[in-house]
Amino acid sequence: MNIILLGPPGGGKGTQGEILSKRLGAPRVSTGDLLRAAVKNGTPLGQKAQSFMDQGLLVPDDVILGLIEEVLGSEQARAGMIMDGFPRTTAQAEKVDALLKERKMQIDKVLNFDVADGELVRRMKGRAAQEGRSDDTPEAFQKRLAVYREQTAPLIDYYRKRGRLADVPGIGTIEEISDRVRKALGK
Ligand code: AMP
Repeated sequence: MNIILLGPPGGGKGTQGEILSKRLGAPRVSTGDLLRAAVKNGTPLGQKAQSFMDQGLLVPDDVILGLIEEVLGSEQARAGMIMDGFPRTTAQAEKVDALLKERKMQIDKVLNFDVADGELVRRMKGRAAQEGRSDDTPEAFQKRLAVYREQTAPLIDYYRKRGRLADVPGIGTIEEISDRVRKALGK
């Protein structure tokens, strides 16, 4: 099963993705995690990505499309995966569709985590204190929210039109939300 987690920064994709990954026994792959590791290790990918990430901007598609190709071409993608943080643009969504088609697979469900901005900012502050991410500053976070609304939210319609979207209200306890996820997936 291929599942996309769609939603704003701080919307709960990572937390719910981990729970879902354990429940379904499917890998959760986060492009954000892969990029942060690349930055930490100083790889060419990390060097290209870092300044965009620090500013809260998307890493350009010409860099990300190659990463997506690598991820979906990997052995762990064979039985399906949980995609956290990608696709984030229409070009990325089209790339994912094309790569899955080559493997005779498809997107089964897109979970759209819906959370109001005020709550997202509150969560970001908690996470900043715990994790110390360089893009969890108030300025970068506002930028990431704006970038999400502008460049990623159009994917809500992209997948709704294809009959793949399930809305998951993202307010509540972790358990309440994971229950909604379970119902949205029909399992
Ligand atoms: P995340 O951990 O998903 O919030 O991602 C952190 C940052 O990594 C984002 O603000 C972007 O700068 C970059 N990033 C992660 N995934 C993508 C993607 N699919 N496309 C472009 N940039 C990405």
